[in-house]
Amino acid sequence: MSAVPTVKLLINGEFVESKTTHWRDIVNPATQEVLAKVPFATQDEINAAVAAAQEAFKTWRKSPISTRARIFLKYQHLIRENMQELAAILTAEQGKTLPDAEGDVFRGLEVVEYAANIGTLQMGELATNVAGGVDTYTILQPLGVCAGITPFNFPAMIPLWMFPMAIATGNTFILKPSEQDPMVTMRLVELALEAGIPKGVLNVIHGGADAVNAICDHPDIKAISFVGSTRVGTHVYNRATQNGKRAQCMMGAKNHAVVLPDANKEQALNALVGAGFGAAGQRCMAASVGVLVGDAQKWIPELVEKSKTLKTNAGAEPGTDLGPVISCAAKERVEGFIAKGVNEGAKLELDGRAPPLADKYAKGNFVGPTIFSGVKPGMEIYDQEIFGPVLSLVGVDTLDQAIELINANPMGNGVAIFTQSGAAARKFQEDIDVGQVGINLPIPVPVPLFSFTGSRGSKLGDLGPYGKQVILFYTQTKTVTSRWFDDAVSTGVNTTISLK
Ligand code: NAD
Repeated sequence: MSAVPTVKLLINGEFVESKTTHWRDIVNPATQEVLAKVPFATQDEINAAVAAAQEAFKTWRKSPISTRARIFLKYQHLIRENMQELAAILTAEQGKTLPDAEGDVFRGLEVVEYAANIGTLQMGELATNVAGGVDTYTILQPLGVCAGITPFNFPAMIPLWMFPMAIATGNTFILKPSEQDPMVTMRLVELALEAGIPKGVLNVIHGGADAVNAICDHPDIKAISFVGSTRVGTHVYNRATQNGKRAQCMMGAKNHAVVLPDANKEQALNALVGAGFGAAGQRCMAASVGVLVGDAQKWIPELVEKSKTLKTNAGAEPGTDLGPVISCAAKERVEGFIAKGVNEGAKLELDGRAPPLADKYAKGNFVGPTIFSGVKPGMEIYDQEIFGPVLSLVGVDTLDQAIELINANPMGNGVAIFTQSGAAARKFQEDIDVGQVGINLPIPVPVPLFSFTGSRGSKLGDLGPYGKQVILFYTQTKTVTSRWFDDAVSTGVNTTISLK
């Protein structure tokens, strides 16, 4: 092997070199520099990771609440202490700007803080005297070995959506990070061990489709949390649930931001530009469609002017607004959509292809802010998730037409409305069929006091990641109905179903 560093597997508390012959380069998307190599774990390595997690579960499931809580208290501290290093790794392998990389880590850190509250989160219910001398109570028991499969676009936040809550509730875990940018995830995993997660409780395997399928098929894995594209998420959901596992799959999106003519123009346009082009549009909650209602359609020239002021450059350079997309293939795909949009008859208001860059970034996967107006359902640029810095503008006459348009779109991850009318906002929140609604706020990702509640085509499974819903996802509710006899009193034989 060359001198390029290799990413390790984590099995039973040890960072180990994979014995596989199948490796993939991890590439800086701004420069094409090879940063490291990631292995595609063998079936034996995957089995060893699951066996370690299965063994560790025997003791971890009975660990005191205070032990679990204190690990996550220490973990949140370690993440804060190492924030800048984590952000730098993330930017190098993923491309987003350094401030946005810190945001990626921070949104995950919030879940770690939430996990430290496990003592009050994993509590059951009790009802006394449900019948004479009979009490019923619930206990929320961990499931066993759980697994998480993550996408490339939030390599810190999304792994942190998963293993902290699974482990805090008493499960053990197998993490399969994105093979495109697993390095910051591995640094977070190192810090988790430093915080005190015992050996075997957290394990990491790397790979692609074969590793994911092995997770879906392994009989000792009880639940799978997946975040990624709709195509892969649907496959994971079907395969995992057919194998009797719990699954939650958070998937692709097409998020609409509705702008009413009574909106605060400056704030609405700033929000649209930030949420459309931030992270080069590679967010599942990116505002990829602007729905301009009535006279708000006259604001297109100002929107274009604002977008032109954004700086496309390497994420590590100060002052950058959007970095590169993740890979050469992603760049080709996004540029392909731009060409299709032109062919489909949409008006290319701003063309972000071939943005000007310094020589050292000439080979990077850069696409600048791109805007189409006159976009309609049926055009591929509207129907498909582009996952790049391309904002499609649709014009409609009324709020009712905007709601009808959005409710007819199969995706339901996020939506936003910009208005100064409380009545319009209230009608919108009530009638819109999308699981996460922003009012005068473009990216309505809830903090962990709540759960991520994408809906319809953006989600399979009932319960979302983090928040109260994930406590139920990672536990089995067991009800116990008990009667302690007073030996002096005989209740006699009861042959009916009723409790007496
Ligand atoms: P992806 O679906 O290509 O990859 C996700 C995971 O699946 C990776 O770990 C990958 O190794 C694995 N995988 C890839 N191909 C596979 C196959 N054929 N069989 C089995 N496993 C496979 O997604 P991505 O490109 O890494 O991430 C971008 C997508 O994720 C976008 O669609 C975005 O909207 C979505 N996303 C959704 C949310 C959400 O909360 N809804 C959050 C972030 C990203």
